[in-house]
Amino acid sequence: MKFSTQCVHAGQSPDPETGAIMTPIYMSSTYVQESPGVHKGYEYSRTHNPTRTALQNNLAALEGGEFAFAFASGCAATASLFICLSTGDHIVAMDDLYGGTRRLITQVFGRWGITCDFVDLSDSKNLAPALKPNTKLIWIETPSNPMLKLVDISVISKIAHSKNIPVAVDNTFATPCLQQPLKLGADLVVHSTTKYLGGHSDLVGGAIMTHSPEWAERIKFVSNSVGAIPSPMDCFLLLRATKTLAARMKAHCENALQIAQFLEKHPQVERVIYPGLESHPQHPLCKKQMLAAGGMISFVIQGGLGAAKHFTQSTRLFSCAESLGGVESLIELPAIMTHASVPLEARKNLGIVDGLIRLSVGIEDPIDLLTDLDNSFP
Ligand SMILES: *Cc1c(COP(=O)(O)O)cnc(C)c1O
Repeated sequence: MKFSTQCVHAGQSPDPETGAIMTPIYMSSTYVQESPGVHKGYEYSRTHNPTRTALQNNLAALEGGEFAFAFASGCAATASLFICLSTGDHIVAMDDLYGGTRRLITQVFGRWGITCDFVDLSDSKNLAPALKPNTKLIWIETPSNPMLKLVDISVISKIAHSKNIPVAVDNTFATPCLQQPLKLGADLVVHSTTKYLGGHSDLVGGAIMTHSPEWAERIKFVSNSVGAIPSPMDCFLLLRATKTLAARMKAHCENALQIAQFLEKHPQVERVIYPGLESHPQHPLCKKQMLAAGGMISFVIQGGLGAAKHFTQSTRLFSCAESLGGVESLIELPAIMTHASVPLEARKNLGIVDGLIRLSVGIEDPIDLLTDLDNSFP
């Protein structure tokens, strides 16, 4: 089955009782057993729920993995993976990454004696010198947030595997529609399904996918032990949303490319960061690794914070809000919104300047979006 067909059908079959074409929302915490210990595969909903099972089968198929586990949020998924590590273990993580992931690593798992080095893995040569005898996980985000740096997943995976270190990729920005890390050699894929997979800004969720039976056992154990699971209602919403993932991503990517090209020509824009532009330092890797460059654009406006704030408050279709990946366009200032918690020094090193604006380009008509941006320059 091709990707867009999997989006619509994988993991789902009509309800055998009624023929209902949509997977029912099984709002049930427990399941009646025929006799003690004899049941239909469902005992208690922290462990299993039929709506969640259908969702997990769908998500596994989309990432080309054997196994998928759904979580209550992207952070819950990330934490449930880090819980598989032990005191004394070391992580090498991408330097430019989701602020909440950095917070989990340093402020939660740091207290448990897990250490981490944040390394610019957009240059694969930086990986080997960062590895330690106790390095137990490589954590990649590509494209990264908000600088949209790319990491060569297959090169990093080869280096890591030569030392028996597993590689996890946060694939939230690309989605399996544009990039499938498991096929490129990664061991684990993590998602904030709140973003493109959910796609409609109406749910918070997360997922982990893998093709490794050993990792699947570990994650299943943690998921059941910790219980950071999504509700059946959220599973249903996400299952409905992934049906249109391929169609939505096509529109996001087409719109974003047009907008990036427009911004690049604008005299009041200092710099546009979009992997689909030839000016992006890793444009060749984008063409090799991704089907298209995605819906996220970062750009630096002339005039610093004042101009950036003015611009952000002037757009009408682009709403000023955190988060991303919904059908509606969003605009935000990383330095004072999503990445305000990143220490100033780290922000400076990464290039998160005050005039940096991040766009999550929606699926509206591109002419309307271009007009909105054009009208918002001072
Ligand atoms: C939003 C996000 C997360 C965290 O997900 P939540 O669903 O908000 O917990 C993790 N990684 C990336 C890249 C994100 O954008």
